[in-house]
Amino acid sequence: MNNEEHFKNVISHSKEYGFIFPSSEIYDGLSAVYDYGSYGVELKNNIRSYWWKSMVQLHENIVGIDSAIFMHPTIWKASGHVDAFNDPLIDNKDSKKRYRADNLIEDYLAKQADKIEKEVDKAKKRFGEKFDEALYRSTNPRIKEIQSGIETVYSRFKKAMEDSDLTELRQLIIDCEIVCPISGTKNWTDVRQFNLMFSTSMGAMEESSNLLYLRPETAQGIFVNFLNVQKTTRMKIPFGIAQTGKAFRNEIVARQFIFRMREFEQMEMQFFVQPGAELEWYEYWKNKRLAWHHSLGFPAAKYRFKDHTKLAHYANAASDIEFEFPFGFKELEGIHSRTDFDLKSHEKYSGKKLQYFDPELNSSYVPYVVETSIGLDRTVLAILSQSLVTEKLEDGTERAVMNIPHFLAPVKVGVLPLVKKDGLPEKAMEIFNSLKWHTYCQYDEKDSIGKRYRRQDAIGTPYCITIDHQTLEDNTVTIRDRDTMKQERVNVAEMENIVMKKVDVTEALKRL
Ligand code: ATP
Repeated sequence: MNNEEHFKNVISHSKEYGFIFPSSEIYDGLSAVYDYGSYGVELKNNIRSYWWKSMVQLHENIVGIDSAIFMHPTIWKASGHVDAFNDPLIDNKDSKKRYRADNLIEDYLAKQADKIEKEVDKAKKRFGEKFDEALYRSTNPRIKEIQSGIETVYSRFKKAMEDSDLTELRQLIIDCEIVCPISGTKNWTDVRQFNLMFSTSMGAMEESSNLLYLRPETAQGIFVNFLNVQKTTRMKIPFGIAQTGKAFRNEIVARQFIFRMREFEQMEMQFFVQPGAELEWYEYWKNKRLAWHHSLGFPAAKYRFKDHTKLAHYANAASDIEFEFPFGFKELEGIHSRTDFDLKSHEKYSGKKLQYFDPELNSSYVPYVVETSIGLDRTVLAILSQSLVTEKLEDGTERAVMNIPHFLAPVKVGVLPLVKKDGLPEKAMEIFNSLKWHTYCQYDEKDSIGKRYRRQDAIGTPYCITIDHQTLEDNTVTIRDRDTMKQERVNVAEMENIVMKKVDVTEALKRL
């Protein structure tokens, strides 16, 4: 199965097994908005809780908040979102499709880089063991030509983005001969800026003075509460404030399933530090956050840092943690050194001081901020696309299995009576009722045992406990492991300990 097929499979599996449904489906859906089904919501809750515990519970100097989605509209003026939260858009006149101009150029650059890798792969095969890759890369004329093309386009692109030069962005699209993937033509409109914030109005009167925005990030709720939180929790700098919640962006091109949604959820933490200490903390949080991703147990090569070339108006350093989704490496989390931009700007617009008195320095200042900002839905997608595999079994059949990290799995234990008679369902319910206090279990007696195992595999349940006739005689059950499909017979009394050790989030947190 190639990547494209795999991605399609992830989308259909997510729907078929109750992870993710298109929003308003019976009305033909709503573009780039999705609903989470019964297993999706469990997975999402588990990820959110793992993030929260790892950030708030494990750090004596990080506390949480939950601020409202509606905020005073001046906040978005102060944060720069009203004036600068724009994406450059371009339309193809033939297909009438709309694209982000920067994405078209980025995709072009990625394709060029792919060409180089293909050349290298071909040469590797041709030359075998004698192949000197570094030498080949630096001397092969074809590779040198592509590389120099990439560098020229990249430096023009970087400058155009820095200068917000829309004419030059369009020119680059023309010069690179980029065609619309739908119509195949180069018939492009001009590039225009498009603000990504959704607006609505508050109260009965639709006047412009009542205009509100749906927050495009959760961070501003943290900034405007900075002093409230610092005073009530008596935090000393350095300290952090964490928040999870919905954010809304009117994305120009919303595609790739839950990767780019118009309503999504963020998990953000703003870390307040002394001015001058921010870059050290930036490095610290970069490493700490990468370690969090690695703790999920997927191959480390699936993650990489990508430092920003175009810094946002508020940042003096920024990097993305990218994940290799089925459609390539893309941003999963951003780590930004936001300087004192936001707090200073809120001081200016609100007329209120947002300063911290530092007893160590015996002076007051506006703190600098390092932010970690991860998309919850993108993390769900990373986990789903990495976990779903179709395995060929020894007997020639196939099984679809979700190798979701045990502690994040929607259902941790399936409790299954071998047959629906002879007192087995009653015994199984007894076991279910004792386990349900500790973890999320599912009781299932419908269909053959083989089919029920497959179902649990398909939703990623790490363990199935099977209650059979022997259980009634000697109080033992079998534990079936999702990944190895091996079964082990254990005493009911031991079973709980064995299973809980493997699915408990505390064990995962200890490994961090
Ligand atoms: P992109 O470049 O992909 O648009 P961004 O740089 O605008 O993302 P940030 O503003 O840094 O994203 O937001 C922090 C995180 O929020 C991102 O790393 C991503 O995981 C998530 N996120 C942002 N936009 C969306 C979206 N439209 N749908 C789902 N998640 C999103």
